[in-house]
Amino acid sequence: MTLHDAFAKAAQLDAHDPLAVQRAHFDIPDGTLYFDGNSLGPLTFRSREALHQTIEHEWRERLIRSWNENWLDMPLRVGNAIAPLIGAATNTVICADNTSINLSKALHAAVALRPDRTEIVVDINNFPTDIYIAQSVASQYGLTLVAVTADEIAGAISQNTAVVTATHVDYRSARILNAEEITRVAHQHGALMVWDLAHTAGAVPFDAQQLDTDFAVGCGYKYLNGGPGAPAFIYVAPRLLEVSGQPLQGWWGHAEPFQFEVDYRPAPGISRFLTGTANVLSMKSLEASLEVFSGVTMAQIREKSMALTSFFVELFDQFLAAKGFTMGSPRAPEQRGSHVALGFAGGKALVESMAERGVIADFRPPDLMRFGFAPLYNSYADVVKLAEHLANH
Ligand SMILES: *Cc1c(COP(=O)(O)O)cnc(C)c1O
Repeated sequence: MTLHDAFAKAAQLDAHDPLAVQRAHFDIPDGTLYFDGNSLGPLTFRSREALHQTIEHEWRERLIRSWNENWLDMPLRVGNAIAPLIGAATNTVICADNTSINLSKALHAAVALRPDRTEIVVDINNFPTDIYIAQSVASQYGLTLVAVTADEIAGAISQNTAVVTATHVDYRSARILNAEEITRVAHQHGALMVWDLAHTAGAVPFDAQQLDTDFAVGCGYKYLNGGPGAPAFIYVAPRLLEVSGQPLQGWWGHAEPFQFEVDYRPAPGISRFLTGTANVLSMKSLEASLEVFSGVTMAQIREKSMALTSFFVELFDQFLAAKGFTMGSPRAPEQRGSHVALGFAGGKALVESMAERGVIADFRPPDLMRFGFAPLYNSYADVVKLAEHLANH
């Protein structure tokens, strides 16, 4: 295959791509090739419109009346918009805070539900913030942190385990962990499971209900395209909603926040996982960007995601393997999330020089270049252009 053949193949695939029309929702600057939606999703036209409307109408004109007219319900409303993307039922997901804080709330809640247990099991290769949060919860409760590789998690779970936490799609390699097995083994030992869906939500299907995971958390600004600092989400299994608490009990999690009672009474249901005032502007942007997912199924997204990453792997074999790049992601598409990582000794400098040419990817030390392929806006032609830039570096 020559590059010319690759472009011809891409044109064919793009012409028959049912998701190709979705790209029109995204305001990606001309001349920019974007492969970093796994870190920061691009601006949608809907987010810009919603922010404008919020500022000019809801804030400027309606002022404080907008809390009752629109804003108070937003954390649950946005949670309910995220729910179908992660296989969750209505009123079991709420939008709040950031992923780190939500993970902390979930781990605290889990540990409190297993007071006789002595260990927390984590993936040692997890995103560092997840490990820091687990370290802090472990030290506050005097628990042992059992940090093992992804393949060792199931074997490390025992009758001593209070909670297991791991990220469903590895942030470096894009490897998809075996959520069924790990969740099942955790439950067989009476432990609770917290999945981090940072690189899953909006890119890889996840079925919170079928897995029966206890908790899940995830990001609003990656594949959900909510914008820089967009709030995150937390899922709690329906069977735990009334029995779990969280450490940051603030007025937004109170049963009746506007009664201004002195004693804390948790709200019924998922709202008890709120703490304080919502970040209205950021949440508005996320609420609007989620509209892009309506009319699109996660199965369609997954199918195109696997096709895009597989196409890139094919081009890697053809054009990049002989030029010093190594494959840093699983080769089997069903084991791979929506990005592909390549090892390259000069990766940092190459990511920087490509960015100057408008080809945006990212780099994770020591030598990994990451390329996110987002099915809603990346085309097959984008994939060939990326391979061409890398081959001619
Ligand atoms: C991106 C990411 C986060 C981000 O956490 P924030 O608190 O939102 O900054 C956390 N965990 C994982 C696995 C991530 O990939």
